Amino acid sequence: MKATVEPLPVHGNVPEREAVINLSAIAHNVAQLRSIAAPAKLMAVVKADAYGHGMLPVARTALAAGADWLGTAHVSEALQLRAAGIEAPLLAWLHTPSTDFAAAVAAGIDLGCSGWELEHIAAAARAEERPARVHLKIDTGLGRNGCPMAGWDALVSDAIACQDEGLLRVVGVFSHLAVADEPHRPETDAQIQVFREAVALAEDAGADLEVRHLANTPATLSRPDTHFDMVRTGLGIYGLSPFEDLNSAQLGLIPAMTLQTQVALCKDVPAGQGVSYGLNFVTDRPTTLGLIPLGYADGIPRIASGGPVRVNGVTYPVVGRIAMDQMVIDLGPHDAGDAGAPGSALGAAAVLFGDGSDGGPLVEQWADAAGTVNYEVVTRISQRVPRTYVGGA
Ligand SMILES: *Cc1c(COP(=O)(O)O)cnc(C)c1O
Repeated sequence: MKATVEPLPVHGNVPEREAVINLSAIAHNVAQLRSIAAPAKLMAVVKADAYGHGMLPVARTALAAGADWLGTAHVSEALQLRAAGIEAPLLAWLHTPSTDFAAAVAAGIDLGCSGWELEHIAAAARAEERPARVHLKIDTGLGRNGCPMAGWDALVSDAIACQDEGLLRVVGVFSHLAVADEPHRPETDAQIQVFREAVALAEDAGADLEVRHLANTPATLSRPDTHFDMVRTGLGIYGLSPFEDLNSAQLGLIPAMTLQTQVALCKDVPAGQGVSYGLNFVTDRPTTLGLIPLGYADGIPRIASGGPVRVNGVTYPVVGRIAMDQMVIDLGPHDAGDAGAPGSALGAAAVLFGDGSDGGPLVEQWADAAGTVNYEVVTRISQRVPRTYVGGA
């Protein structure tokens, strides 16, 4: 054993593993979407830990960049925002019989209501001695959350009765689109039509609506006739494209998350070396393998063999199976490090995806490798990967 050990080179100053969140990109994307949506207001959707980007930093950045509202799926998520001191208008829309409606009313969180929640929200308002603010949700065709048109009259009249009692105010009507990422599909027109009818019925029944809202990110970008008073954008504020045939840059958006680590081991192997569980990949020549210390425990889909990893300016596909903690790239007969010296890529930055500005890999390539969408790739990056923040106000 040597008495002293030289520190190993860490070429890119990259920590062991990190998801870098570029808050300046978030601010840019919010401003971009806001200008597209104007005069409609913009709700920044920060559910699911802001699609994996970190709810609080994203929420603060989005508000500073001009977002008017924040949206979450769960009341518990909205309560975290309030607990952090965020006072902006907040809407939560996905409830269960265990949802703490009283806490939501007490915290001034607007509540989506598809039906059964109404009497629970009214009871919470009575207990808290504070009127709830309710957005009635109409199912215009998605077939998921929301009240079917057949039950809409009854829901509206029950809600207006509660409003007349002073228990709540119906401040919004909203719905969610099913196929807005495929702008040519006619179902969106049908959903808009049903939405207009539902809004008219609510207004005729006595609702004094502050916000009518229907559009998600793809509709915000492709269908101005869905904007109404407010758009609810998630994916776009993270700089990702919802469309098959248009990338972020073409939409004026900047991907906010970069996922990177260091090459953890670099070794020369002969031809015929099997790689990773199942030995599904076998080297066809003597080559250098690079070990990438990220796996499905970090949220990289196990199915995504072939996904891109950029090392020293070259993008390599993952070979063999992705394991819980690690995956392997084939660096080629001479590794890509300085002068081709074996092992020289040890400690080099390994980028799985980023903003693409340097020609580097994109989230969408991982989504393709995994047979999924960019939404899922970023949202599933696990808590084992530390988030670090750059840019911002
Ligand atoms: C998640 C969600 C959104 C945001 O959708 P994006 O496509 O990410 O913009 C909007 N509205 C509702 C009801 C949602 O659940």
